[in-house]
Amino acid sequence: MDELLIAPCGMICALCIAYQGRLIDINKQGFHRKYCEGCIPRGEGCLHMGDTCDKLKNKLVRFCYECGDFPCKRLRSLDKRYRTKYRMSMIDNLRFIDENGIDAFLEKENAEWACPDCGATICCHNGLCLKCGLDKLLSNRKYRWGEE
Ligand code: SF4
Ligand code: SF4
Ligand SMILES: [Zn+2]
Repeated sequence: MDELLIAPCGMICALCIAYQGRLIDINKQGFHRKYCEGCIPRGEGCLHMGDTCDKLKNKLVRFCYECGDFPCKRLRSLDKRYRTKYRMSMIDNLRFIDENGIDAFLEKENAEWACPDCGATICCHNGLCLKCGLDKLLSNRKYRWGEE
């Protein structure tokens, strides 16, 4: 996981289906997914989050914890959605980076999201390693975290 794959909002783009799908060119399997290189590499913000706030748009902060309004209402609602559906918290991520630094964060997340079978990175949007679990996604395109 590269530091540039940690978005300002605390999202880990390396876990995102738009990022991972692009890496394996998932649309060749009949999917119709948007592809994304990640928030920072893309340079135009996040496909999922739509318009970013002015501070993010103008690149005044690298991470939202540098902002006086952190955690703003918008970030709290995004965080709630991700905690509920995708088993990660942007706000926890950001607090960890603020307190422990980016290197410690990357080390922790690399371990936490590694596929136990092949070591590739699990996708937070479905809970699957796309190397080992693509068949599950092919048989149920809405598959998410063990739901059948
Ligand atoms: S869609 Fe958003 S979360 Fe996904 S890789 Fe792109 S910027 Fe990151
Ligand atoms: S207002 Fe601050 S905390 Fe909210 S999204 Fe913008 S930079 Fe992040
Ligand atoms: Zn795997």
